[in-house]
Amino acid sequence: MAKPKVLVIEDEPDILEVIQYNLGREGYKVLACRNGEQGLSRIRTDNPDLVILDLMLPGLDGVEVCRRVKSDPVTREIPIVMVTAKSEESDIVLGLGLGADDYVTKPFSPRELVARVKVVLRRGPLREQGGAGERVVRGPLTVDLGRFEARVADEPVSLTPTEMRLLHFLASHPGRVFPRAHLLSRVIGEDAVVTDRNIDVHVRALRQKLGEHASCIETVRGVGYRFAEAER
Ligand code: CA
Repeated sequence: MAKPKVLVIEDEPDILEVIQYNLGREGYKVLACRNGEQGLSRIRTDNPDLVILDLMLPGLDGVEVCRRVKSDPVTREIPIVMVTAKSEESDIVLGLGLGADDYVTKPFSPRELVARVKVVLRRGPLREQGGAGERVVRGPLTVDLGRFEARVADEPVSLTPTEMRLLHFLASHPGRVFPRAHLLSRVIGEDAVVTDRNIDVHVRALRQKLGEHASCIETVRGVGYRFAEAER
């Protein structure tokens, strides 16, 4: 199999070097550039398997690069891992909403970054996963949208339609972080007159019903929720 090709868009030379070194050591082919405009054109010409994108870039910033990549049918399937400062939580939410696949916050360990890259490359584009089917099984948990049935360790759990859709959606994409607004539009609908925090109410109710398995729904502070990834 060909080595996966990773394009790193990062203006800070030290961080760029650390990323290049560590991904190179893992056997990835690493391309690099220092600003958004260059990054965008290399995404189109080099067709990388994954992009590591710093959000704070001179000129065209990372969020804008993400928006353009994800709105272009030719490039939208290329996964993006954002690199951000902790103080850029609103940008993380924005980026994930635009279709970025994951993020790490600075300072990150090279190990953490490599792990995120592996996970994102393994799970492939979100669209394909959407075809996971009506029935999702994760450990002791089974969610069957078609039969409108959820079970934990073979015991039926009584969920509302919103809780059912929420659990099914999250469980269909383990390890993937979804901002609150994204979950709301997926499980309640775009037209719903609700605030982002409304999703918290549903998550709380869902966790209560899941009992000792409640921890499968993880809160990602300042960002949203994700379904816990199975230990490997
Ligand atoms: Ca930067």
